[in-house]
Amino acid sequence: MDIAFSKDVQAFRQEVRAFIRTHLPDDIKHRVERGEELDREGHMGWHRKLCQKGWTVPNWPTEYGGPGWSLAQQYVFHDELAFNCAPRLPWYGWDMIGPLLIEYGSDWQRQRFLPPIASGEEWWCQGFSEPNSGSDLASLQCKAVLDGEHYVVNGSKIWITAAHVSDWMFALVRTDSSGKKQQGITLLFIDMRSPGLSRRPIITFDGGHEIDQCYFQDVRVPIENRVGEEGKGWSYAKYLLSVERIGTADVARSGTMLRRLKTIVASERAQGKPLLEDPWFADQIALLEIELKALEVTELRYLFETEAGSDLGPEASILKIRGTEIQQRITELIVDALGYYACPDLRPALWQDANIPAVGPDYAMLASASYFNLRKLSIFSGSNEIQKNIVAKAVLGL
Ligand SMILES: Cc1cc2nc3c(=O)[nH]c(=O)nc-3n(C[C@H](O)[C@H](O)[C@H](O)COP(=O)(O)OP(=O)(O)OC[C@H]3O[C@@H](n4cnc5c(N)ncnc54)[C@H](O)[C@@H]3O)c2cc1C
Repeated sequence: MDIAFSKDVQAFRQEVRAFIRTHLPDDIKHRVERGEELDREGHMGWHRKLCQKGWTVPNWPTEYGGPGWSLAQQYVFHDELAFNCAPRLPWYGWDMIGPLLIEYGSDWQRQRFLPPIASGEEWWCQGFSEPNSGSDLASLQCKAVLDGEHYVVNGSKIWITAAHVSDWMFALVRTDSSGKKQQGITLLFIDMRSPGLSRRPIITFDGGHEIDQCYFQDVRVPIENRVGEEGKGWSYAKYLLSVERIGTADVARSGTMLRRLKTIVASERAQGKPLLEDPWFADQIALLEIELKALEVTELRYLFETEAGSDLGPEASILKIRGTEIQQRITELIVDALGYYACPDLRPALWQDANIPAVGPDYAMLASASYFNLRKLSIFSGSNEIQKNIVAKAVLGL
């Protein structure tokens, strides 16, 4: 199979690259490169520029405000964002809710919810996991009871990324417990400002706040915020988990991290020589380069097969496992290379107007925070153990 991009797609890549290099503010680029979390305003400064260009919802058809790009163009677009250290697009709206509504939503839902996703005015979070339902998601218990024109929701959702900066949650709730656990689940859109909805920040080991636990006490959700039929939420959930598969390996962002690692080992010295000349570091970096190249080729192979009409299916789990392992490995090597400089918690030095001096070089600032933070990669979006089960059963037939 030929996995080279056509001339048109290569020209498109140049157009995207030129746009990003002209319009991405240097300070945003620097913060992304360093691994800093951006606040909503930080994201929006860049998002508005993309929006003027019509590039915020790359996977939507033109009739709903998307650019109508091919899969290859979408891939190249995300590749260039990552390569040039541009922020990711805001979570969940463009990649999950948009395609879901285009496929299954009512006309009212499309008109109400799609435009503010494209403009970045409304952000979304995903309310699936619960304190006792993660890998076994279908066992979820957050309950919704129909009362006239509203569902009344009671229960809790946990590990919700960006709940504190989101306007809406798409939540799986239980509307019936009488059948099999996959039945009786319904998908609701819940306004994050609803009375009865409260949040508890969860501060992760790296000191960051990106996830929350949400509590629902008699939260009233209008019936028009239900997607599709009552009790069919499990099939919409499966659809949602399948739409964003190409690109899950994050090859380009790993490439950026690898470049950073190389800068560090070229600058840090041990016994009078750059670490890059240390045979162990040189070996580890070579190994990572080879693994990343192999992953990129695998991802492109899937991309071109999907463009040719075949379904990606469970092979996507391979991309998730290898991609996350590589990213975690890079953060481990960065910490190894920095030694003591990786130790201080320098997050306060990043605050605006901070008068706390940085310890060590700039590239050491968030090294251990990134190392700890990226442990999450093998847990969320279905843990790597679960992905391995999928590969064993559905790909290898074991
Ligand atoms: C940073 C972060 C962000 C997240 N964001 C969101 C979000 O926005 N929305 C959301 O809904 N959820 C989110 N999650 C939740 C995430 O999807 C779950 O944590 C994940 O699915 C695992 O579920 P669990 O935590 O309940 O662990 P469990 O399911 O209890 O698993 C515990 C351990 O057992 C292993 N295990 C479980 N079952 C099996 C099995 N059958 N075979 C082999 N091993 C198994 C798991 O791999 C894991 O190592 C997030 C999680 C993290 C860490």
